[in-house]
Amino acid sequence: MKEVILIKNGELALKGMNRCTFEDTLIKNMRRRLSDLGEFNIRKAQSAIYVEPENEDFDFEEALERVKLIFGIAGFSRACCCEKNIEAISKTAVEYLRPVMENIKTFKVESKRADKTFPMKSPEISCEIGGCLLDAFPHLSVDVHNPDEIITVEVRDYAAYIRAGQIHGAGGLPVGTAGSASILISGGIDSPVAAWTMAKRGLRLNAIHFASPPYTSPRAELKVRTLLSKVARYSGRISLGIVPFTEIQEEIGKCCPEDYFTLIMRRMMMRIAEKIAQNSGSLALITGESLGQVASQTLPAIVSTDSVTEMPVLRPLIGMDKEEIIKISRKIDAFETSILPYEDCCTVFTPKHPKTRPTLESCKAAEAKLDIEALVDRAVRGTVFSCVE
Ligand code: ATP
Ligand code: MG
Repeated sequence: MKEVILIKNGELALKGMNRCTFEDTLIKNMRRRLSDLGEFNIRKAQSAIYVEPENEDFDFEEALERVKLIFGIAGFSRACCCEKNIEAISKTAVEYLRPVMENIKTFKVESKRADKTFPMKSPEISCEIGGCLLDAFPHLSVDVHNPDEIITVEVRDYAAYIRAGQIHGAGGLPVGTAGSASILISGGIDSPVAAWTMAKRGLRLNAIHFASPPYTSPRAELKVRTLLSKVARYSGRISLGIVPFTEIQEEIGKCCPEDYFTLIMRRMMMRIAEKIAQNSGSLALITGESLGQVASQTLPAIVSTDSVTEMPVLRPLIGMDKEEIIKISRKIDAFETSILPYEDCCTVFTPKHPKTRPTLESCKAAEAKLDIEALVDRAVRGTVFSCVE
């Protein structure tokens, strides 16, 4: 029996003229994500995409696990493929569906006949296959209104497909269809969730991390890589730029009033991130900020960090409670990594009484002694790039 993965692309169906581009991007993403699992073929047909293993070696179960996480797939099924005659379809249905049928009480069969040369009409196919299933599994009965399982038979140009049930996909839009954006990633709980949330809407991610060795340890960097690899299971490959931030933090420590340390640090982060983002083709920045969560995330503080960049800053978590954020963090398997205790540059030089209501003028005055342009330039030039998959 030859099994395939059958994908129905939900939201993509709404995209009208763009649909083709969306589907092609999704197929490209799928090819890349399944490429090391063996030989397979991806076929696009009307409203569906089929992943067909080319031989026995293809790791079908692992492919299902990966497909579950690919953005742009609302739901999918495993289906069995057979010859396009009613005897073959009946025989295959009984054999293939046995494990499902043995565990339910009621079912109905729905048929679709894309190949109009097939000699039976859809209702006749349903009737015939339903009858065969009832003969083979006498404990079953048909319930057309509220069945335990819906069995679908599709007769296509090249083969017939039989399937039961539907598996939930990750939803969203194929990564890449919305362009690229740069996520400022720390080792905390919020920014990986922000990254995941925006990748779900079709953004390809470039990540930027500020490291301040020796105040921050190499393990903090490793933690960021691990977090990005969790997000990459959904989004595909993420580029990562590690920015040397020690000099800037030391300068802020020397030249600026203590209650402005965090604010000025964040303004420096935004300036540098904007430059790196522009160089990498990103159209926006993304942060994990949530309104009022900490002193640097009050509205006046956000206004002051925003004012140093012309790029739009996407803050998908801005209106979420910590509990809601943690729920997503657990769902994407990032939480246990996020709570590991390694120092982040935000926890170095933290003021005792951070400013919560800064004005733009007071921020500018507080950072007046810094040679901002030179510091930004050195940080951008010192950034080291790599990739996380
Ligand atoms: P997170 O859990 O994402 O660390 P947080 O609640 O700890 O967020 P802050 O530490 O104030 O909040 O950081 C706010 C946002 O600034 C983060 O969500 C992230 O986008 C960015 N950020 C903070 N620290 C870094 C860093 N070291 N490198 C890159 N971006 C950072
Ligand atoms: Mg943090």
